[in-house]
Formats: sequence, structure tokens, C-alpha cells
Amino acid sequence: MSEEDVLEIIDAGLLRPFKYPRLVYQGFLFHYHKKCKRHIRWKCSRVSKANCQAVLRTTLDMNRPRLIQFDHEHLHEKDTHSIDRLKMKIQDMVIRLSSSFY
Ligand SMILES: [Zn+2]
Repeated sequence: MSEEDVLEIIDAGLLRPFKYPRLVYQGFLFHYHKKCKRHIRWKCSRVSKANCQAVLRTTLDMNRPRLIQFDHEHLHEKDTHSIDRLKMKIQDMVIRLSSSFY
């Protein structure tokens, strides 16, 4: 498994209305779609905006998913900026939540 194939989970549970985690694969952002019998399906985050059909299938372990299959190439450039923004938002939220206890 090369560095490129690493899946990164972004726990967006703190940011409503994002109930499910996001997944980063090769610089692209995916949204949780559904759980199937043997895998979890993730849709490209631009499925509606760019009509991108890219789909990931991973193992069922939501905390440490492993890639099973990647279908369809993306129709757009990488999501580097939205991924950074998402991470910053979550970090902000974590700081706000932890400081509210004092
Ligand atoms: Zn895409």
C-alpha cells in the first residue's frame, strides 16, 4: 500500500448537520453514503455540484476503513481547499467546546 492509497477519516460529527464522517482519498473529499453488507459506500463530495460519479468502497470499520475499490475518475480538480477548511472548522469547534468548560 503506497502513501497515495491512505484513507484519512475526518470526524465531522461536531459540525451539524454532518452526522457522518468524511473520507479523504488522494486529495479528494468523500461523504458517507451507505453501509452495505460487506462494505461502506462513499460518494464524492461534489456529486451534486459537479455531477461527479466517483465512488469509494471501504471495509466496514468506520474508524480505520481500508480501501476495497475506487470507481469512476473525478471530473474536477482536487478538494485540497475544502479539506483544509473542513479541518479548520472542526479544530475551531473542538477549541470552543473545550474552553467552554472553564
Ligand atoms: Zn469527484
